[in-house]
Amino acid sequence: MNTHWIHVKITNAENTIKYISAIRKYDTTPISIIKNRILTGFAYSVDWQDDGDFIDYMNETNPRQIFRMVVDDLISSGANLEFYEEYNGNTTIVSLQFIDNLLQSAEGIQAEVELDIEREVSSLSCYHVMEENHEILHISQIDNEDNIWVGMFQFLCGNNHDSGEITLVDNEEIGYENFISIIDELPFGHQAEREDEKSEWIISPKLD
Ligand SMILES: [Zn+2]
Repeated sequence: MNTHWIHVKITNAENTIKYISAIRKYDTTPISIIKNRILTGFAYSVDWQDDGDFIDYMNETNPRQIFRMVVDDLISSGANLEFYEEYNGNTTIVSLQFIDNLLQSAEGIQAEVELDIEREVSSLSCYHVMEENHEILHISQIDNEDNIWVGMFQFLCGNNHDSGEITLVDNEEIGYENFISIIDELPFGHQAEREDEKSEWIISPKLD
């Protein structure tokens, strides 16, 4: 496995008290150790591949974003900073812009992963089905490439809907498993419809 660290070094370490308090806001490491880091090496470091724990996830901050906040606080405290990237043990000096670009692509990847997870466990349905217990009479896949949920199945009551009437639901909630056989038969760009719960599904091309 690759190792990837980003470090920050303070090159004017006279005013350590201010810098320690900037770091201590985000880091529970004992003050003496933080001080030692500031004076002798990297003031603060982040394992770039660490996505953080559940609490970080809930707060929508991860160790990379916390690193960036520490950097901002250090800059406000008057620190002159140098940044280093350590990749598989090779350390090179980098710019803050480089780190910001790295941060942007990391958060993009994370958002993508979260979206993929969401896609696997979710479908779309209308409030008639979810809240008014209407029968599911229409199943189709989102086939509009501009829609972020393209490829996701929607389970609807059979009436026409505004986009605001359709929401993301758990597959379990919708009883996804009961529809697997019809979903397997349904080609992309087609819809399955039935008159009521006892009728056969009829597959036809989806009209926009
Ligand atoms: Zn509906």
